[in-house]
Amino acid sequence: MEFRKNDCLSVVIEDMGNDGEGIGKVEGFTVFVKDGIVGDHLLIRLTKIKKNYAYARIEKVEIPSPFRVEPRCPIHRQCGGCQIQALDYAKQLKFKQNKVMNHLVRIGGFEQEKIEQCMESIIGMEEPYRYRNKAQYPVGMDKDGNIITGFYAGRTHVIIPVDDCMIGSEKNAEILNIIKNYMQVNRVSPYDELTHKGQVRHILIRVGQDTDEIMVSLVINGKALPKEEQLIQSLCTIKGMTSISISCNTEKTNVIMGKEIRLLWGSEYITDRIGMVIFRISPLSFFQVNSIQTEKLYGTALEYANLQGGETVWDLYCGIGTISLFLAQKAGKVYGVEIVPEAIRDARENAKLNHMENVTFFVGKAEEVLPEKYESEKIHADVIVVDPPRKGCDQACLDTILKMEPERVVYVSCDSSTLARDLKVLCESIYEIKKITAVDQFCHTTHCEVVVKLERR
Ligand code: SAH
Repeated sequence: MEFRKNDCLSVVIEDMGNDGEGIGKVEGFTVFVKDGIVGDHLLIRLTKIKKNYAYARIEKVEIPSPFRVEPRCPIHRQCGGCQIQALDYAKQLKFKQNKVMNHLVRIGGFEQEKIEQCMESIIGMEEPYRYRNKAQYPVGMDKDGNIITGFYAGRTHVIIPVDDCMIGSEKNAEILNIIKNYMQVNRVSPYDELTHKGQVRHILIRVGQDTDEIMVSLVINGKALPKEEQLIQSLCTIKGMTSISISCNTEKTNVIMGKEIRLLWGSEYITDRIGMVIFRISPLSFFQVNSIQTEKLYGTALEYANLQGGETVWDLYCGIGTISLFLAQKAGKVYGVEIVPEAIRDARENAKLNHMENVTFFVGKAEEVLPEKYESEKIHADVIVVDPPRKGCDQACLDTILKMEPERVVYVSCDSSTLARDLKVLCESIYEIKKITAVDQFCHTTHCEVVVKLERR
């Protein structure tokens, strides 16, 4: 049968792809259905036809899957932030566990049986909502001239107005309302990407999960706002307000935050606690977005590092030193390496704040600092922990790890496909996978974190 765009067809969703899309077959022809849930009987409309497959959207759910649930967020289909909010949470966890497993088998080339033996149960959340400690809302204007805040519709820059995101803090809506009200009263305009005119671009809100301290930073196309005092006064009525700042971003760019931060009121940072460790978080710092799960993630990394007290540990891609300080509680000495100088400044502050003297941080690329130190000083490591960004570790970094031959490598990853690629390199040489745990840091999205323990053979 010939298929054409806009054809309306019936399909049963048999599987779900890595990006959370439903997969079904019509007369042997594969169709990827946005928002389809495994088990759904759907009426779909084809949106794009390729040679061997097609894309479609749901026209009508004829028989809902037993795994389909009512999403809490009314706009989850437009927003695109939570791709699988309509999938039952227990099933979401299975989906992520399988995704990690598939990557390790298909990309890493490991035996399925071996992976199954090493894989522990995925760590999910008891209450998988309201977990994000950070939100960045774009600011815009609707057709009637009202100021709106919300999220970009999937893969566009069209703002869908929403103040209360179900995976964010309950405090966000109140803060956004105060800012919108201030803007309306003082005729402060939202930024317009097309004309590069207007003032307020984004609003960054961070809330300390453990401390309830709040940070608000307004990203503006300029240096200052009118009547800043008024804005400060109204924001300060919110309990827990700790830091209010302006981030100047006058560039034509998709990057949200400007490099320059001007403090309007309060402290330059908020603090939060993960386990026993306290962290300082500035507007520009990288900090895991889900503090509750981060404690479990770092706890697992610490367990896998299996420290007895005297070890030398290298923590590559250390950010503000979060994992480094977690490890320093149990290690003899920890060295952290991170490319962003401001993050290392925070890392050093964090070490001081926690009275930890057994940590040293270096600014630079992991794939440059580690080989340089190894060649010039013949540094040694008992354990190496890596937590790279999505693109994974550089080959030079992996090569040096193999030369240094630490007893254990703990790999923390936010992308199981590059994890699988890198583990292949390490395990074709002298390492063996001992344990794997996925941690659901990003409930209702298709992403998760994975921790792997490798031991020297
Ligand atoms: N372990 C930290 C940060 C992980 S995110 C935490 O859990 O909070 C990855 C970090 O790697 C980011 O801070 C990023 O700035 C840093 N990074 C990216 N490329 C790098 C490289 N080539 N060398 C060192 N650090 C890098």
